[in-house]
Amino acid sequence: MSSRPCIRGCVVRGRHFAACSDYGRDDGDCSGCATAEARDDVMLCHRCYGRLRRRIETAPQLLEHLRTMTLNVGRARRYDIERRARPGHTHAPVDPDLLDATRDIASTVYVDLPDAPTPTQVRDAARAGITHIIDHYDDLANDAESIVQWWQIVMTLEIPTAPDFWTITRALARWPLEDRRHWARAPCPSCDYRTVTVSPPSYPGGPSWYACQSCDWERSDQDEHGRYRELMGPFDTNRTPAYPETNGS
Ligand SMILES: [Zn+2]
Ligand SMILES: [Zn+2]
Ligand SMILES: [Zn+2]
Repeated sequence: MSSRPCIRGCVVRGRHFAACSDYGRDDGDCSGCATAEARDDVMLCHRCYGRLRRRIETAPQLLEHLRTMTLNVGRARRYDIERRARPGHTHAPVDPDLLDATRDIASTVYVDLPDAPTPTQVRDAARAGITHIIDHYDDLANDAESIVQWWQIVMTLEIPTAPDFWTITRALARWPLEDRRHWARAPCPSCDYRTVTVSPPSYPGGPSWYACQSCDWERSDQDEHGRYRELMGPFDTNRTPAYPETNGS
C-alpha cells in the first residue's frame, strides 16, 4: 500500500489529523485536513488521477464537437451573406475562438489535423493521440513536473502565463458536451451515500468512471481487476445527475 500523500495536497472531507481541534468530531469548523493518499505507484490520489484522465479522454469528443460547430456556423453565415449578395464576400466568417480552441486542444493531445477535416476525421485523429497518452498515463502521473504541466493545460480554466490558451476545461465551460453520466444504484464504498455517478466510456474500449459526489471516492471499472464494475451494478435510470462537472481546477 502507498502511504504517500497526493502531490496536489488534496485533503479528505471529514478526516482530520490528530492535532486538529476537530479531530474525532464532525460538527467543527474544519471540513477536513488529513491529506488524501496517493494511488499505488503514482503521485496522485484516486480522485485527481481520475479527474485528469477523464478530462483528457473527453478530447476526441470535444474536438469533434468544435469542428461540427465550426462547419455549422460557417454554413449559416454563408447563407446569410449569399442572400444579401454582397460582392467579394464568399467566405463565411467563423468564430476565431473555435479555431483557436481546436488548434490548442489538438496540440495538447498530440494531434496534427489535416486541412479542412471532417468532424469524424478530427475525432479519429484525436483518439489516436489520447491512446498514446493513456498508454503512458501512469508514468505521467508519477512525475511531478508532468503532473503540473498536464494539470495546467487540461484542468485549469486559465493559464496565468498564457491566458489566451484554450485548456480542455476552458473549452468545456464555453462549449459544454452533453452530460452522459448516470447514477449508480450501489452506495459509495467509502461514505455509503448513494451519490456515485457513472461516466460511460468516452471512446471504444475506454473505462467507465465511478465518482462519488459526497466524498472524494473515485475508481474506474478497470481498477482492482474490475471489482467495481460488479459492485456498482446497473444504472439507476430513475434519477438524472444534476452536477455539471465543467468547473475549474
Ligand atoms: Zn481538521
Ligand atoms: Zn489529489
Ligand atoms: Zn462517497
